Amino acid sequence: MGIDYERYNDPDADFAIDPTAEYIMYFRDRSSRTMGLEKKRAPGPRDLEITDVQTTMVRGNYNWTFVRIYTDAGLVGTGEAFCGPGVPEIIRSMKPFLVGENPLDIDRLVNHLRQRLSGWGSDGGAVVTAISGIDIALHDLVGKVYDMPAYQLLGGKYRDRIRVYCDSHAGEHQTDAESIDPGDVYTPESYRTAAREIIEEGFDALKFDLDVPSGHEKDRANRLLRGPELEHKVEIIEAVTDEVGEEIDVAFDCHGVWSANGSLRLARAIEEFDVLWLEDPVPPENHEVLREVTKRTTTPIGVGEMYYLRDDLQPMIENQAMDVIHPDMPKFGGMHETRKAADLADDYYIPMALHNVSSPVATMAAAHVATSVPNFLALEYHARDVPWWDDLVGESIIDEGYIELPERPGLGVELDLDVVEAHIIEGDTLFDEA
Ligand code: MG
Repeated sequence: MGIDYERYNDPDADFAIDPTAEYIMYFRDRSSRTMGLEKKRAPGPRDLEITDVQTTMVRGNYNWTFVRIYTDAGLVGTGEAFCGPGVPEIIRSMKPFLVGENPLDIDRLVNHLRQRLSGWGSDGGAVVTAISGIDIALHDLVGKVYDMPAYQLLGGKYRDRIRVYCDSHAGEHQTDAESIDPGDVYTPESYRTAAREIIEEGFDALKFDLDVPSGHEKDRANRLLRGPELEHKVEIIEAVTDEVGEEIDVAFDCHGVWSANGSLRLARAIEEFDVLWLEDPVPPENHEVLREVTKRTTTPIGVGEMYYLRDDLQPMIENQAMDVIHPDMPKFGGMHETRKAADLADDYYIPMALHNVSSPVATMAAAHVATSVPNFLALEYHARDVPWWDDLVGESIIDEGYIELPERPGLGVELDLDVVEAHIIEGDTLFDEA
């Protein structure tokens, strides 16, 4: 071991080091030039710093917000946050809290961001959505550092293939219903046709929206589900289950529009059709109302996409106010947080489906979460109308209604920047290639 005498004589140097030595010498007392001795830390993956955070937004059927975290080792992690106004700006504002940090400490960094952004409301909304995108990018990055798939960071696999359910609105475009009588658009027969098409695309689970106009609405603000409207919903479910119910599972989404009475009448009226779940029948705020509906029907009730973080779901899970939790991972808090919520639900034997309107990046990230928990049910795919959805990662990731988890490091998918650039939102710029 030798002393670097140039540094030793430099009055501003804190230490004098021979770069080849196993130990470093440092000034224990600068005035007396007393030296201390310390064993050098072996270089390895812990020697890693975040150097930059960038975003790019692409216009698909939603605004897909991609996040990239860059490091001094040259490794880059890619994530995606749920669409939402202001999310890219919030992500970029986090950069000063991330640069210089070690990206390996995912949980600590996520909590660090929540603390630093608490004044902006980091217990829900766009801040949690932005942090979710960071969390996903960190999982991709750390998987690459240790050369392992991201699911391994969450505890390993329960299954090799992830079941995907296809959400296809109502099989018709909403704009059609704005120009002609909605009663002629959202017919039980149109749902029946769409269900058959989805089956032929290879899916064995699907979901349709039920809160579409029937032509019988009077005043939706009062949340009453009147007789003719109720009949319209029941006829849709009857038509779909008659067409495909023997072959696949079907779920229906209500988007929280009806009162307890209307929700319960609907849930009971469709018990015989054995749906996979009836989603968000009542508004999200009142957990007691939700619990009452759930307790008084055998139709499984699912909720989750309107909530953030496991703290939101905890009282509902503990009260068994739902039969299925259904968080949106890249909005809910990210991969680790969603895994924690799944664990909490599993304590009550409640399964978890995953809401998802994302690009293949967050969809694959959700698949990694899905395989890491015992109680996974199905993961949403919501991009039948986007023919270039797969092109974003240069490969088809859903095959016959299932995602096969790649064994590649991190998320196992990489963005094709040419495709990103071709669909980038107006006024945005492409992040750096690295
Ligand atoms: Mg929904």
